[in-house]
Amino acid sequence: MEEKNGNPDEITLRNAGEKVPGNTGKIAPANIERMEQETLIKEKLSNIQRKILVMSGKGGVGKSTVAAYTALMLSQKGKKVGLLDVDLHGPSIPRLLNIQGGLEFQEGGPLRPHSFSENLKVVSMEMVLGDKDTAVIWRGPLKISAIKQFIADIEWGALDYLIIDAPPGTGDEPLTVVQTIPDAKALIVTTPQEISLADVRKSINFCRQVNLRILGLVENMSGFACPHCSEKINIFGSGGGSRMAKQLEVPMLGEIPINPEMVDMGDRGDLSVLAEKDDLEINKAYKKILDEIEKK
Ligand code: ADP
Repeated sequence: MEEKNGNPDEITLRNAGEKVPGNTGKIAPANIERMEQETLIKEKLSNIQRKILVMSGKGGVGKSTVAAYTALMLSQKGKKVGLLDVDLHGPSIPRLLNIQGGLEFQEGGPLRPHSFSENLKVVSMEMVLGDKDTAVIWRGPLKISAIKQFIADIEWGALDYLIIDAPPGTGDEPLTVVQTIPDAKALIVTTPQEISLADVRKSINFCRQVNLRILGLVENMSGFACPHCSEKINIFGSGGGSRMAKQLEVPMLGEIPINPEMVDMGDRGDLSVLAEKDDLEINKAYKKILDEIEKK
């Protein structure tokens, strides 16, 4: 990333779309650059044990929260974790974790991710763009180029996990991740109601079409325990995720209940405080999911 600016037309990015001119027998400079970038990507990825792409069919199901919280809890367990936000249109990871700073850079040294804690390193497009309220218009090739640079040009170091938060749906961003990180696995987030599950089928079909292995399905916002009588109220229904997982033969990783504190702490960027409260049902549910992830 050579320039920080709110307008991607003015960011000098490697030209992903350039073609080899004529049959001159020479390798075009853009191709040399591309080959160098591919070598860098391979090098960086060889230092990362496991790569997880967090996807959802729909927005608002808690996908970014699941990505951030999973990364946080793994890092609190002592794992070295990278969290990469490739939701270029609506990056929400910096807000959820209250990250004000940008990427770390010292004259002459490599570009490093933002260090949220000793074990958790974070990269988001919001750290590169100047004004976070600017609506950025991204064309497909620029998105592809930016995501590749997030891996090639940033010194992630050795990691146990790289968790990637993709925007909802099956567009350029998840596709670029699949093409760039061939051993990534998908964690698909849904809510229990049919309208959300219908889109999960699309996400699963996408994974199968592009040979992206599926780590499993997580049902978020799965029931709410009444704070007065503890009775479970299934606001969005329940069990839809398990049924879908069975029907489509994908592993079910777990169900996460609704917890209003999650909304409040997420809005305040205090998810790391919530993650430390061991006795909360929501944290017990997440721990079960982490166990499932670590087993796979
Ligand atoms: P997405 O990335 O799918 O668009 P977000 O992660 O931004 O969704 O979450 C949408 C909203 O839902 C946020 O306000 C978040 O705090 C809230 N949320 C996510 N998971 C839960 C949960 N288990 N209980 C309560 N609120 C949640």
